[in-house]
Amino acid sequence: RKSIKKLTTGSKNLDDLLGGGLETQSITEFFGEFGSGKTQIMLQLAVNSTLPEENGGFDSDVLIIDTENTFRPERIIQMSKYKGLDPDTVLKRIHVARAYNSHHQILLAEKAADLSKEFDIKLLLVDSLTSHFRSEYMGRGSLAERQQLLNRHMHDLLKFGTINNAVIAVTNQVSARPDIFFGDPMTPIGGNIVGHTATFRIYLRKSKGGKRIARLIDSPYLPEGETVIQLSEDGIMD
Ligand code: ADP
Ligand code: MG
Repeated sequence: RKSIKKLTTGSKNLDDLLGGGLETQSITEFFGEFGSGKTQIMLQLAVNSTLPEENGGFDSDVLIIDTENTFRPERIIQMSKYKGLDPDTVLKRIHVARAYNSHHQILLAEKAADLSKEFDIKLLLVDSLTSHFRSEYMGRGSLAERQQLLNRHMHDLLKFGTINNAVIAVTNQVSARPDIFFGDPMTPIGGNIVGHTATFRIYLRKSKGGKRIARLIDSPYLPEGETVIQLSEDGIMD
């Protein structure tokens, strides 16, 4: 078993909450309502993964499975410049795969192993993990099938993380009013499959301006707690 490494989020506060950053060989889930900053964090992690190890990165390539078409090269350019990185070099190291439906998403995760033969991928992002599943499997009758597929998908992702000593980070949109979603096992209310497979779960909620509150939820060994991060044009910071 390779030794676990940590990837910086760009925020010292959030890194501290996570015990030093996002861990390889496990899945970190960021969940929160629309606009809570999930995609911004994914883009920042992508940039950070290309940083040298002494600056909290892996000097690695990145695979993003983008299900909502929210990847923005302009944001990568802004964030790269702020970190003193050459934006073109960073963009070349970020491989974006657009997933058109849940089946395609599952396939892309399986094919990630092939890509890692050619590129040194130490970060795999899925933004969003659940949107296709949620829209395609609606109604009570299809819940079991959806959960089964999602469970398999998450195990594929975890396997990639273990074999490649890579960080896996995923996003999951939840309503600010969980009562609307009552009975839906994808919400963090009650038992749910995403929650059981993700090792680290961070709940994001909006605060004033670009501030967001990040809360660590049921970690196996870190204390629960919350901190404040800042979303800005330059990226994620304290
Ligand atoms: P989610 O993925 O959770 O729906 P996003 O990651 O898209 O949310 O977050 C959107 C928020 O990110 C915006 O409301 C804004 O606060 C911040 N943001 C996005 N782009 C910029 C930018 N260029 N400059 C400053 N803040 C930005
Ligand atoms: Mg998003």
